[in-house]
Amino acid sequence: MSQQLSHQQLLQVTEEFGTPLYVYHAERIKEQYEKLLNAFAGADVKFFYAAKALTNINILKYIKSIGCNIDCSSINEAKLAAKAGFLPSTILYTSNNISFEEVEEAQRMGIHINIDSISNLKKFGQRFGHSYPVGIRLRPNIMAGGNLKISTGHSASKFGVPLEDIQEVLKVQQQTNLPIRTLHIHTGSEIKDVGVFAKGIEILFEAAQHFPELEVIDLGGGFKIPYMPGEEGTDIELLGKKVKDEFDEYEKKYGKHFQVWFEPGKFLVSEAGYFITKVNVLKHSGEISFAGVDSGLNHFIRPMFYGAYHEIENISNPNGEKKNYNVVGNICETDTFAENRLLPEVREGDHLVFRNAGAYGFEMSSHYNSRFKPAEVMIKDGKAQLIRKRDVLDDLLKNQEDIL
Ligand code: PLP
Repeated sequence: MSQQLSHQQLLQVTEEFGTPLYVYHAERIKEQYEKLLNAFAGADVKFFYAAKALTNINILKYIKSIGCNIDCSSINEAKLAAKAGFLPSTILYTSNNISFEEVEEAQRMGIHINIDSISNLKKFGQRFGHSYPVGIRLRPNIMAGGNLKISTGHSASKFGVPLEDIQEVLKVQQQTNLPIRTLHIHTGSEIKDVGVFAKGIEILFEAAQHFPELEVIDLGGGFKIPYMPGEEGTDIELLGKKVKDEFDEYEKKYGKHFQVWFEPGKFLVSEAGYFITKVNVLKHSGEISFAGVDSGLNHFIRPMFYGAYHEIENISNPNGEKKNYNVVGNICETDTFAENRLLPEVREGDHLVFRNAGAYGFEMSSHYNSRFKPAEVMIKDGKAQLIRKRDVLDDLLKNQEDIL
């Protein structure tokens, strides 16, 4: 049974730090990391936390402290990772349509780089030639993932170098003497089916035949975690076994050993996160009861952006009579968190908690409607500490030039 914060703990932090509030349970992150280590025991695997899910510096430091590596999707994430103490050899930068200046900056940092376009690959080869091994982000032409917004590997996707352009990659490699050390794919987020990863392995094994200097196969992130009650996530034990078997067999057949990399984001931090809001207003309209909370798409956009389902708990009245509510925000667009959701009776002033809010929650928040971003708290060793202060009005004016 996974560790969870109790209603009592959540009410306590709410009282101490106010709402809206993101709360992260450090030990839960460690528990997830250990699940991965156990599931892949015996395989030559490294995990790189996909920082885009949640980049609070304390989270990054904690992830480092448990021995995990880090995957970045911008040069700033890479710089934050360095600030958090990650050594260059433990930082991976998986890029997507970035400027060559940013690739050069990553090279100067001495970190691993997965390049995702022929254009940048050519420039990199011409500039650094044989001196700096790189990875290639390939587009495997596999359609998979939670929905189109988080599917990245299909044949109409903007991500990576299309598989059919592999001859182009080889040409650049030959012309510039560029050592290609890693082949990478990231098929999408919320991939439950182990068969999708197996397909990716098959594709990369085939591509690998062209790259004699290859040492690493990077299978990206995207492990599914359960959101709805009764839902199942990716069977990581099965995946771990599959990966070990496939790579052992390849080694036996071709005498070539690869290290396997994964870049889990959600899997590590989602279930460790709780988003706590307060009900400002109750409204009734015909059959519908609206519970209007002190937040909105500016703080937690997953339900509106992806149609994501998040469990909601009324921690102020957990034993109340169950009724249906539309849980909505206070933003000037329709920002519905949940429709027709059965919840213990909701009263004005009650606190509603969104579960599974650690990944892509705070990270996608904004100042829209000139509202402050939520504060963030980390609970570690049973102790709750503020890791991001609530904004003040000056934060909204920061960087603005007053010219009138
Ligand atoms: N790796 C890459 C290249 C990604 O683009 C993403 C997410 O978009 C991830 C890893 C992490 O995905 P997830 O949080 O689903 O594990």
